[in-house]
Amino acid sequence: MNIENMPKIELHCHLDGSVRKETIKEILGFEGDITDKVIAKEKCESLKEYLTMFDLPLKCMQTKENIVRITFELFEDMANENVKYAEVRFAPRLHMEEGLDYQDIIESVIEGIKKAEKKYDIKGNIIIIAMRHEDVEKSIEVVENSKIYLGTKVIAFDLAGNEADFPPYIHEKAINLAKGYGYRITLHAGEAGDKHNILDAIELGAERIGHGIAAKDDYHLRDLIKHHNISLEVCPTSNYQTKAVDKYEHHPIKMFLNEGIRVTVNTDNRTVSDINLTREYKKLVEKLSMTDDELYELYLNSVEASFCDEKTKKELLRKW
Ligand SMILES: [Zn+2]
Repeated sequence: MNIENMPKIELHCHLDGSVRKETIKEILGFEGDITDKVIAKEKCESLKEYLTMFDLPLKCMQTKENIVRITFELFEDMANENVKYAEVRFAPRLHMEEGLDYQDIIESVIEGIKKAEKKYDIKGNIIIIAMRHEDVEKSIEVVENSKIYLGTKVIAFDLAGNEADFPPYIHEKAINLAKGYGYRITLHAGEAGDKHNILDAIELGAERIGHGIAAKDDYHLRDLIKHHNISLEVCPTSNYQTKAVDKYEHHPIKMFLNEGIRVTVNTDNRTVSDINLTREYKKLVEKLSMTDDELYELYLNSVEASFCDEKTKKELLRKW
């Protein structure tokens, strides 16, 4: 399989974790190397340490102009490695430090995606994030203020951030509200937190789970994931960095796949994890002996798991 030319789908990619290093330097006027400030160590102490790498990129994302540019550049990078469809996610409330409001932020991301769609063979949609360390009133605000963009690129709602200290049930009201408005639901769970968060996320109505690695030690939970048709968005390099797995070679993706769980491969954060989908798939082939048939299966899983419309899904199936 020629991994470079293989069509790809990205379902779990944080906009603020995927800002080009050169763009950060240019916007903030830095000279010299900023690698240790924006790229996490190969193995972090914890997810919390990994999350500190978002400080500089977020500083760059406080104006409409910069958000449009950064979104466009991300989609350009993805198009250049044959990503045909991407769902990019961000938390609007992290972009309000200099006075932007929901409308400014979301419309800037939409503009960046549309600009890239015109220039490249790629399509994109948006997953809106509420930060789990904030209280539920704030996540309700996020749901309410983003809902007018449902159908205009915004398709889903997610909870992200410090999972170990803030389990999903804190945000139950916001999740229920989002479901009622027609957002699709994907929730980060079982990344740094334990397996109960995965179970809770499913009970709360998540159709997809961000990571879900904690299911690796629980057959019954994996059986439940399978029978509820829950898709897992795993991000092997990031999972290794945040210690969700102790060795890349021990990543449970093959087990998930062999057991019939709809597992998908994603980057999480292209800059912070210093990865793209091409390199991630190459690592899966090299370190986990992923076969061509399995790569195809992963592609089909991503098409099925995506939140796009049926027409786009059919187009994506024809790309392989
Ligand atoms: Zn994530």
